[in-house]
Amino acid sequence: MGNKARVVIVGGGFGGLWAAKALANKAVDVTLVDRKNHHVFQPLLYQVATAVLSPGEIATPIRRILHYAKNIEVILGEVTGFDTDRKTVRLDNGAELTFDYLIVAAGARHAYFGHDEWEVSAPGLKTIEDAVEIRRRVLLAFELAERQAYLRGKTEDLNFVVVGGGPTGVELAGAIADIARQAMAKDFKAIDTRKARVTLFEGSDRVLGTFAKELSESAKSQLEDLGVEVRLDSFVSDVKPGKVKVGDEWIDCDVVVWATGVAASPIGRQLGVETDKAGRIFVQPDLTIPGHANIFVIGDMASIKQESGEPVPGVSPAAMQMGTATAKNILADIDGRERNIFRYVDKGTMATIGRSKAIAQVFGLKLKGWIAWMFWLFLHIFFLIGFRNRFIVLAEWFWAYLTRERSARLITGDADELRNALTFISGPEAAKVLDEVSPKKANARVST
Ligand SMILES: Cc1cc2nc3c(=O)[nH]c(=O)nc-3n(C[C@H](O)[C@H](O)[C@H](O)COP(=O)(O)OP(=O)(O)OC[C@H]3O[C@@H](n4cnc5c(N)ncnc54)[C@H](O)[C@@H]3O)c2cc1C
Repeated sequence: MGNKARVVIVGGGFGGLWAAKALANKAVDVTLVDRKNHHVFQPLLYQVATAVLSPGEIATPIRRILHYAKNIEVILGEVTGFDTDRKTVRLDNGAELTFDYLIVAAGARHAYFGHDEWEVSAPGLKTIEDAVEIRRRVLLAFELAERQAYLRGKTEDLNFVVVGGGPTGVELAGAIADIARQAMAKDFKAIDTRKARVTLFEGSDRVLGTFAKELSESAKSQLEDLGVEVRLDSFVSDVKPGKVKVGDEWIDCDVVVWATGVAASPIGRQLGVETDKAGRIFVQPDLTIPGHANIFVIGDMASIKQESGEPVPGVSPAAMQMGTATAKNILADIDGRERNIFRYVDKGTMATIGRSKAIAQVFGLKLKGWIAWMFWLFLHIFFLIGFRNRFIVLAEWFWAYLTRERSARLITGDADELRNALTFISGPEAAKVLDEVSPKKANARVST
């Protein structure tokens, strides 16, 4: 690859991909490593989890996105560590990549307050696999309730729990309530899906706590309009299959989704520098780590303050801006120019709640309801990668808006997988539902 500077980028999310784009066809040799072959547009993951969109509509192969960049090789692999002195990156198969510059952009996941064992019963939403698993659990809950009602005449109302009132929790709770009250209602005969309870538990005194107070309050009432029960100051302190503990109370539920807490990628600790409690690395103003001017940490893995003293938030615009700024600084080094320090430009924030329901803080304006929703819609289409995806997603949304249908209502997996899933979701007793034969309708044996 000649004598050009070698840049290794770990992660093809918003930070890594934007760094790669800014280095495309420049005088550097770039290797981008990701453990997935695709870049995910995470802001729309909840729509895969709630059957509005299919995975391929919000994820694109990284190799495809960067196909035009002759100087960039994309490698599928899990990074397991670094040797900062020897300037190498270690992959899971023991192979090593050498670098002159390293950009670490491996993102973050939800944290379970030291109880990672809760994850099997209360999955978080971060990857396409997570979204498909949540979709499976939500759809399965309706199917099993219908089956119980039809075979045994038992009709208990469904109970969905979402833990965490940040943007992901709010989006999920709103979308599940919408499915139950609209998309499912006309297709199920033995149960009334509109009676399903959707409860959102938030440990603090308001949802969407990073927004202005009046917008948080509006978000709460917009959620309630959709039928979501919002419980504030309600900290979930334990999770078991089929139930969560809030205060002293155990609450039974059919599906739990976890949408709180942040844990930066554990590979950050391998760099051997100081991190905050969430594992985010304290970076210098040019996003490098202390003592290593050639190693940058960006996106959700980086901990850095804005000029106002507020931390740079863990959102996609911040990761994209960091990626571009880092690439520019590497090119500045190569050209013998001075580096710039990173300055986050806050263009506003928004959160969607459901059909025609959203809040937004943009250009100093506070918007609620339909107008905020339109802003959210067009901005997400604008940033979604690929013309085909934009076109299809817009068409899906238009169809869903007109008909209230969900086009991706697929439960994937065979009977054994479903049995395992049920054991984690609701306990071993629940899995027995799959083997039951109707006492009322002997001929109605349902094959598993
Ligand atoms: C459900 C959800 C909804 C969101 N909604 C919004 C929103 O509406 N607006 C907004 O601005 N932000 C939103 N965010 C936040 C935003 O997506 C993140 O801030 C952004 O993705 C951070 O970019 P990143 O590059 O740091 O990490 P990511 O985009 O997470 O990318 C990390 C990449 O690193 C790869 N990786 C991880 N570990 C390894 C390893 N060991 N080896 C190799 N590769 C690895 C991953 O596969 C991934 O491709 C949302 C996040 C989630 C999870």
